[in-house]
Amino acid sequence: MPRHLLTCAFFLLAAPAAAQQAIDSAYTATIRELTPKDSVWKFSTEFVDYLPASSTVPTPLAVLGYVPGTIGRLSHVADINRYFKAVADASPRAQLFSLGLSDEGREMILLAIADEETIGRLDEYRGMLARLADPRRLDAAERARLLQAAKPIYWLTGSIHSPETGSPEMLMELAYRLAVDESPYAREIRGGVITLITPVLEVDGRDRVVDVYRQTKALKLPRGAVPLAYWGKYTAHDNNRDGMVLSQKLTQHYIRGFLHWKPVVGHDLHESVPFLYASTGTGPYNDEFDPIVVDEWHKLAYEEINELTRRGLPGVWTHGFYDGWAPNYVLAIANLHNGIGRFYETYTSSGADCHTVNRWDEISFDHSSFFQLKGPHAKSCANCHTTPSDFTAFTCFTCHEHDKAKGGPHRGGRCRCADGDASPALLRHRIAVEGGGGVDRSSRDVDQDCADASAKCRSAQCGK
Ligand SMILES: [Zn+2]
Repeated sequence: MPRHLLTCAFFLLAAPAAAQQAIDSAYTATIRELTPKDSVWKFSTEFVDYLPASSTVPTPLAVLGYVPGTIGRLSHVADINRYFKAVADASPRAQLFSLGLSDEGREMILLAIADEETIGRLDEYRGMLARLADPRRLDAAERARLLQAAKPIYWLTGSIHSPETGSPEMLMELAYRLAVDESPYAREIRGGVITLITPVLEVDGRDRVVDVYRQTKALKLPRGAVPLAYWGKYTAHDNNRDGMVLSQKLTQHYIRGFLHWKPVVGHDLHESVPFLYASTGTGPYNDEFDPIVVDEWHKLAYEEINELTRRGLPGVWTHGFYDGWAPNYVLAIANLHNGIGRFYETYTSSGADCHTVNRWDEISFDHSSFFQLKGPHAKSCANCHTTPSDFTAFTCFTCHEHDKAKGGPHRGGRCRCADGDASPALLRHRIAVEGGGGVDRSSRDVDQDCADASAKCRSAQCGK
């Protein structure tokens, strides 16, 4: 999953001040390497383009061995849960809860994050929202007091649809950021909001998707060669539709969790359409939903659209996708119980591979078969393919000096071609000048590599 999918609009409360906190430089360098670069559009923000350092709380890289968003890497549920436990064990700002076991016995978890004082009084704060949730038993004075003292709970949930693979990865890094970031905006979130994170709702389906993804890669099979038989245990329907039937453990646990915590906002993370969609629906709106709820869908969505558009992120949008009438989402319980149920949709790779930003087709070029990238050349796609809309174009010169006056001879030959062309001739030139330094192919294979690369790009219809 490309890194730009991990950009999270959650960090929009205030601009960050100059960071006093040390930065995790190695992790930050990887974030920047993994984030696509474009001359016009941005794919990240100042809130998440670095990682604050912590001497106590481990990063996902420290626990799992990779930075979320790394091409080709997806975690099983046990490893995701292990990371959340590590955060809770290390931070007084986090507390881990179990929502229950799935049909196949995997644990669904919930991590609460807030400042230390709030986490220390979590039950008390939860009780305040429980009392406000049914104001018929409150007099006006008590209601006013609770409104001042209580803190809203914001519950983020990932991957109710198991082929939508990015949110569990992103939520690990978000948990770390919320626990350790000392920027004013992060402190404001911790002090004012109790954030709940459930990284995976469909835990059985998640593991199945990761297995299929890894096996397909290991056997070098084309995408889709191993179809996903079902999403969860005996389930091939949309898990959201179970919001009305409650036949699945995941739905039962989510509903029980909602009634226990009474979150003000339930925010479910999905992947099905381009760019970032923030839900409002289009109407007609269900008249069982309070008009205040529908109004707040719009307030939140337009705040995010304004803030992300102002920062130059492409294509944040709303007023589409669904109507806002059908109550067949698990989030309907929020919309029908004085909360706000909302969701994002964004791109999916249904795995952890690259794709272009202007075509839905997956890029099928496989660097493990052709132009193998080893050592310092094992970088993200965006490092060399600097035009996100066209992955047939690539450059070596983001890293390699191309000024003859400065650079001297390349390994194995001298530079003879201009940049900006992906013709077989230039491919050949680049293989030649790179020599054995990064490309694990002998010169005898160059012609075949060029032909294969051209054919693969044509079959993927990636741009030109
Ligand atoms: Zn979905």
